Amino acid sequence: MWKEKHPNQSVRWPQGVRLPIVVSVHHQSEEMTSLFPDRQPDPFDYSERQYGARRGAWRLLEILDKHGVRGTWLICGATLEKYPEVSRAVKKAGHSIAGHTYEHEMMCNLPRETELVLMNKTVSAFEDLLGERLRGWRTCFASHNTIDLILEHFDFEWDGSIWNDDLPYIVEGYGREVLEISFHAYSDVALVALGAEGPVSAYGTWQSNTPDFALRGLKSMFDALYERGAEKAVMMPLTVHDFIAGRPSRAKVLDDFISYAKQFEGVVFTSHDQLAAWWQADHRAQNESVA
Ligand SMILES: [Zn+2]
Repeated sequence: MWKEKHPNQSVRWPQGVRLPIVVSVHHQSEEMTSLFPDRQPDPFDYSERQYGARRGAWRLLEILDKHGVRGTWLICGATLEKYPEVSRAVKKAGHSIAGHTYEHEMMCNLPRETELVLMNKTVSAFEDLLGERLRGWRTCFASHNTIDLILEHFDFEWDGSIWNDDLPYIVEGYGREVLEISFHAYSDVALVALGAEGPVSAYGTWQSNTPDFALRGLKSMFDALYERGAEKAVMMPLTVHDFIAGRPSRAKVLDDFISYAKQFEGVVFTSHDQLAAWWQADHRAQNESVA
């Protein structure tokens, strides 16, 4: 069992930081390919997604590098095993790396023991192939057990699987604490509409809305948060997927958005590791001032 712990005072980012933009690159390529009833992968969907590791991830690396932006790459264990050269380039470029399940499983549909096996398998893949001890984790489809498993069995410093907040908070249990850093699809470069009467969804790649629509959504979120950041601590998650945002027209949305946001004073593009370090430093300072 675990519980949330919120500090008494609101968080303060370091001097000069008005809006941290926390960059998540989901490097998952074809891991979530849809399956036919006989469990065979749909070849069309497979190849569409496979673009992520073949081309998309490289294009995203180039754009981030062009702007000097370092973020977090959330990488599936199986993707690392199939395309280790991408993860090596990501690491060499100075980005943070976090685990993103093994084959992008929907953990919410799996028993607790299976989820734990898959988490361990992913952690081992990063240690063996990349020499990387994971400090962070995201399951796009978390289960009711995800947070318990993280606290009980792993020493991650942060988790980013939950969609329920604008600011980080602590989850506490099993004698330790982890910082939860929420994300959501509203600031996803993939933002698309699934047809006129359907709900807006992030991941229907072939029913994509126009790049203009995605850019408008990002700018609106940025403008609202930047204004609020003058008075209160805020953060903006910015999410991209290699197989969607790595396509040329979507990659340009990311490029254009970074160019736009960079013009504003106090905007810092950052990783979850950096954000967690800021949060912890502020938390300690507030505790000391109370003591
Ligand atoms: Zn994902």
